Amino acid sequence: MKLICANFKMNFLKENILNYLENIHEKINKDRVIFFPSNLYISDFKKENYLVGSQDISFKEFGSLTGETSIKQLKELGISYTLIGHSERRKYFNDNRYINAKVKLALKNDLKVILCIGESLKERDNNLTSLVLKKEIDEALKNNNCFNLNNLIIAYEPIWSIGTSVIPDNKVIFKIVQEIKDYLKNKYDLNLKVLYGGSVNLENIDKLENISNLDGYLIGGASLQPEKFLDLIRIIK
Ligand code: PEP
Repeated sequence: MKLICANFKMNFLKENILNYLENIHEKINKDRVIFFPSNLYISDFKKENYLVGSQDISFKEFGSLTGETSIKQLKELGISYTLIGHSERRKYFNDNRYINAKVKLALKNDLKVILCIGESLKERDNNLTSLVLKKEIDEALKNNNCFNLNNLIIAYEPIWSIGTSVIPDNKVIFKIVQEIKDYLKNKYDLNLKVLYGGSVNLENIDKLENISNLDGYLIGGASLQPEKFLDLIRIIK
């Protein structure tokens, strides 16, 4: 059964969240769908026993970091997952500097980490995809031998596909996902799940479902309308 991660990004007010929860009530398999709402609404999902994660964590547990939210505070709200390294974080918040610290902190705190990796359009066009992905994996995993790396899940998200409705060919996704899995196995002796993210929606899900080595999806825009999201989930095996 594939994992399905719903990344709400910075969308919704309280009223929308309550409507959303009403709309999905008793229609979701709570073992395989993980919601990543804004931190403010984590407890609303937790209250109804959904799996819930944060879209990011701070790179330190506590301290003088104005505006940040501590992993300990997020755990109090009930998260068991966190995204780390989403391309929007890397782009707007310079997160490349903190990925390694965040991964270590999350694993130390027994969270499951969805580590997002992906190439830009320019990198893809210059045949740099493999190199970029391996570099991002190595950076995230370095100096990490005391924590449980099996709690990592990789989300392959080509940056050029996020929010654009453009997705890579099935063959390309298959090849890249396999490359990621082989690299993790050969270099780190890890068998990790690999998700695909980038414009997954009702129009392309049937096609994506033919990719045999995918373990799930990270879904942004198409998770925002509950009825459509439920339709999407029904198609995913
Ligand atoms: C994302 O932001 O991780 C994502 C996959 O977004 P979208 O589905 O909207 O492309």
